Amino acid sequence: MDTSPRYSFVLPVYNERDVLPLLFERLDALSGSLDGTVEFLMVDDGSNDGSRPMLQIKAQGDPRYRVVGLSRNFGHQVAITAGIDQSRGEAVIIMDADLQDPPEVALDLIRKWREGFAVVAAKRDSRAGEHGLKLATARLFYRVLASLTPVRIEHDVGDFRLMDRKVVEAFKRMREQDRFVRGMVSWLGFEQTTVPYSRAERAAGSTKYPLSKMLRLATNGIIGFSDIPLRVALWFGALVSVLAIVFGIYVVAGWIWSDSLVQGWASTVVILSFLGGVNLMMIGVAGLYIGRIYEQVKNRPLYLLDETDEDATR
Ligand code: UDP
Ligand code: MG
Repeated sequence: MDTSPRYSFVLPVYNERDVLPLLFERLDALSGSLDGTVEFLMVDDGSNDGSRPMLQIKAQGDPRYRVVGLSRNFGHQVAITAGIDQSRGEAVIIMDADLQDPPEVALDLIRKWREGFAVVAAKRDSRAGEHGLKLATARLFYRVLASLTPVRIEHDVGDFRLMDRKVVEAFKRMREQDRFVRGMVSWLGFEQTTVPYSRAERAAGSTKYPLSKMLRLATNGIIGFSDIPLRVALWFGALVSVLAIVFGIYVVAGWIWSDSLVQGWASTVVILSFLGGVNLMMIGVAGLYIGRIYEQVKNRPLYLLDETDEDATR
């Protein structure tokens, strides 16, 4: 029988071979300043660069480390979820493995937790090494999201956060396929707060979040927490109907009072193409939601573990 640790750290790892030695160093140092026992859950999200055996070797030599091996790359948000599912600590701390989330900030998160907060998110007050486009798009995204959803999602807050055990248990009941973890945790409620930190530069290696994955995450955030895009179709329909009535009156008036009626090729083409465009767009929006319904009703597991002998020894 093993006893539960006080703290669980969840770190998603996808091809982070170059960072891992530095990461282990920083985590080992951190664990010395914690006021309780700790487990480091290293979630290997289907790495193919040799990260997995590095994690396994570390875990063999150090009982605080556990490897949660996924059977393939399921993506950052699912990897976090797998780690949370496996966690046993009274407080669970999620952070990136690339040291952009400095492990020492966990001490600030823990301090707030001890004051009684159930969720403590780390809020970026600066982002080293992230410039121009990424900052601008991130800002735009959070503004759009805030205007679309009643769930309060903080600006400049990623997934770096601490969750109390009671929040973790609640979170584990949310089994949606398309996940936007920071929004899901906000949705849960409980006493939430933030602490500021400065986001560091990636310690080594390169980003595993290309634009396509970022767009996917942003769409999940909006679709998962708002039905306003669907309702836009209704407003648009109403607006276009009013315009059609006005135009209809104009056409009938022209038919009564004028004798040169067969004109209007331009207006016809403009109206047809406009309506065609709006129609397609709205079908597309509805399709986004339907696609997600389809994913959900298939009821597939969120992820699969591929536990090798090395992992299973713990
Ligand atoms: N990550 C993951 N699966 C993925 C992509 C990323 O587990 O499919 C991990 C990655 O190893 C890192 C964290 O998620 O620990 C954040 O990714 P990254 O640093 O590449 O994103 P960025 O900080 O550039 O937004
Ligand atoms: Mg990063």
